[in-house]
Amino acid sequence: MPALRACQAGCAMTRATYRFIEHTIRHAPEGGVVFELCCVTCPETSGGQAVQVTAQDWALKHTAAHPEHDLFRREVTDFARVTRD
Ligand SMILES: [Zn+2]
Repeated sequence: MPALRACQAGCAMTRATYRFIEHTIRHAPEGGVVFELCCVTCPETSGGQAVQVTAQDWALKHTAAHPEHDLFRREVTDFARVTRD
């Protein structure tokens, strides 16, 4: 809890003193990893998939159906947890 002190001029503004506490951020395996491929030609996406191959299979089928849609943005999302040391 920070210590609060009144402003010297007597205004309602307060100051807070914080002490530094070390934190660490790490990958949180319990959150899993999400793979998604997004067509850059149209708004379609594979949706978030827990397995990378599932997202890639969607892209292959998408290009097969729409040969001019052959570029995809790949998004890989993982989760991180911050803990106090
Ligand atoms: Zn497309």
